[in-house]
Amino acid sequence: MIQLIKGFKDVLPGEIEVWQTIERAAKETFENFGFQEIRLPIVEKSELFSRSIGDTTDIVEKEMYTFEDGKRGHITLRPEATASVVRSYIQHKMYAADPIRKFYTIGPMFRRERPQKGRYRQFYQIDAEVFGIDSPYLDAQLIFMLTTLLATLKAKDVKAHINSLGCPCCRPKFQKALKELLDAKKEHLCENCLRRSEKNPLRVLDCKVPACREAVVGAPSILDHLCDECSDHFETVKRVLTENGVEYEVDKNLVRGLDYYTRTAFEILTTSLGAQNAVAGGGRYDGLVKALGGPEVPAIGFAIGFDRLAEIVAMQQSIEAPGPTLYIAPLGEKATETAAHWVMQLAARGISCETDFSGRSLKSHMKRADKLKAAHVLMVGDDELKTGRVTLRNMTTREQDELPLDGLVETLAQQFK
Ligand code: ATP
Ligand code: MG
Repeated sequence: MIQLIKGFKDVLPGEIEVWQTIERAAKETFENFGFQEIRLPIVEKSELFSRSIGDTTDIVEKEMYTFEDGKRGHITLRPEATASVVRSYIQHKMYAADPIRKFYTIGPMFRRERPQKGRYRQFYQIDAEVFGIDSPYLDAQLIFMLTTLLATLKAKDVKAHINSLGCPCCRPKFQKALKELLDAKKEHLCENCLRRSEKNPLRVLDCKVPACREAVVGAPSILDHLCDECSDHFETVKRVLTENGVEYEVDKNLVRGLDYYTRTAFEILTTSLGAQNAVAGGGRYDGLVKALGGPEVPAIGFAIGFDRLAEIVAMQQSIEAPGPTLYIAPLGEKATETAAHWVMQLAARGISCETDFSGRSLKSHMKRADKLKAAHVLMVGDDELKTGRVTLRNMTTREQDELPLDGLVETLAQQFK
């Protein structure tokens, strides 16, 4: 038997109901905040990711699924969505008509990571990005939107963690101070961090290796190095969050794994998933549009880990698919053919409807209707077709009604609309 590849997974009925609920809630919440959906390709030129995510990140260093594609060179299964959204924004000159655009997109991402609980090689993200607004009100609004969605989904034990990463004006000073500490702790750092401390010391704060975590405990805080503009920006974000009832924690060691972040960075962490505790991550990336060949347009976004959110939501509530509104129980050959016709007519008119063609007994039909959790059962035998009346049973109240055969589809369509 051929089985799926480790790190990949099937989302089956039983689990999909939670996924659909999340997707509907995200769509509704985001659209209320003025976002539009976009759909983008799953493969892009490798260069898009190496240039935007950064050569010193885990993703680009070791997690990308990259293929050679003849003359096209190297192409990569997207490890995240931001780079593609930015590429699309620039490519279609979306900024020309109106630089302010708000997008969301939902879909699979691919990273060659060690598969484990909450960590897959194909996972899904719900991604939101805003272009053209540099106001800190937007940063707060975005975090508010994210926590609103989580509250709508009754996701408990989640909390926003925020930090500011400064800007190209104030970050270098901090990087220098951090580098000094890292140089002093060289012998405690993992191999990756030794390399990172040369190329991009901030990334060491993000390392998950316990020894590295310990080494950076007394690290200087970026918050002490912010320039006035970055500091004002961060203060406003915090104030607006507080005024709007968003609980948060400032975490000076929170850096995003991606190189292009500036100023506000945030993560939603949960205590209910064990080691993989990040449900969502995001932040401002004011320099990326320009870096990828577009105009100077500020931007901010986040990505929710769909798989992890689904796990949390499933812990809080069980969401079951509803059964059909109607199960038609035919007795006899003619009745079965009639039932087939009615199901087609009713389902086409928007009534969820089921039947069974195998010539069961009435008792067996009722068992099947129960198993499918049908709300009503319509009983029809060859005799009823002659007498012109059929019986409709409400499976909850057990009440039965007689309905005339004449205009039956219309009667049922009206009743169940
Ligand atoms: P982590 O610290 O868990 O590796 P990350 O910083 O690599 O996360 P991001 O690139 O910020 O993650 O992606 C946003 C969200 O996507 C994460 O918060 C997480 O919920 C989810 N995510 C990232 N990688 C995976 C994965 N391999 N499997 C499942 N979900 C993932
Ligand atoms: Mg990661």
